[in-house]
Amino acid sequence: YEQEIRRLREIVEDSKNIVFFGGAGVSTESGIPDFRSEDGLYRQKYSYPPEQIISHTFFVRHPETFFEFYKDKMMALDAKPNAAHIKLAQWEQEGRLTAVITQNIDGLHQAAGSKTVLELHGSIHRNYCQNCGKFYDARYVKDTPGIPHCECGGVIKPDVVLYEEGLDPDVIQQSVHAIANADTLIIGGTSLVVYPAAGFIDYFRGRHLVVINKSATAREVGAELTIAGPIGEIMAAV
Ligand code: NAD
Repeated sequence: YEQEIRRLREIVEDSKNIVFFGGAGVSTESGIPDFRSEDGLYRQKYSYPPEQIISHTFFVRHPETFFEFYKDKMMALDAKPNAAHIKLAQWEQEGRLTAVITQNIDGLHQAAGSKTVLELHGSIHRNYCQNCGKFYDARYVKDTPGIPHCECGGVIKPDVVLYEEGLDPDVIQQSVHAIANADTLIIGGTSLVVYPAAGFIDYFRGRHLVVINKSATAREVGAELTIAGPIGEIMAAV
């Protein structure tokens, strides 16, 4: 990827206002499986398809199975940020990156030091009692066997956007604003299959559009530079 990395370095040096838009592929090098790769969660066998388990209806009807899958497959509390998370945090600190917009719920961008992280699909680190609203951290949910209940008796719900649920309008508004004002948009580690998230990149009207993704994305975004490789390794070399 030598030539592509050189080009990416030039683009970064030419940018004052980079926005990064990413997905599960950003965290695979931290050991968290994505959904649609060869060894992604969608290729594994469960009694129900993952899309169904992490839907709102399923959460309400079968909370036991939901939490079994969620705790086992989605709550990777020991994962550490990789070179991609770290480089993005560094760019923000240097004043060349304004926002990381992520579909991930793992909190690894913040763990790497990023400050402006727009979490389109929420976070495993925030959990609320559906009855009284009391906050619980990820450790509490993960370590509680079965369905986690609040001290008031209510069921605790992770602050993640399940299938059938809407995105937070404030996060949408901030994401669209960041993308519309970026001079460079780097899209990485996302299949661009999940909507409405994948549609937000259409607001980009800046100069440089880059895609770093192992496989082809579901939609053609007209990038000036496409790097089909591992994002952590590539970002480390920039
Ligand atoms: P996806 O699984 O649909 O697509 C991941 C993409 O990343 C694939 O195109 C794959 O080729 C690419 N990829 C995988 N590893 C890569 C690497 N090391 N370098 C470069 N590219 C790599 O994921 P998505 O587009 O984010 O959509 C799925 C949904 O899954 C999201 O809504 C997200 O909330 C959720 N999810 C989150 C996590 C997490 O928080 N870490 C993990 C799994 C799923």
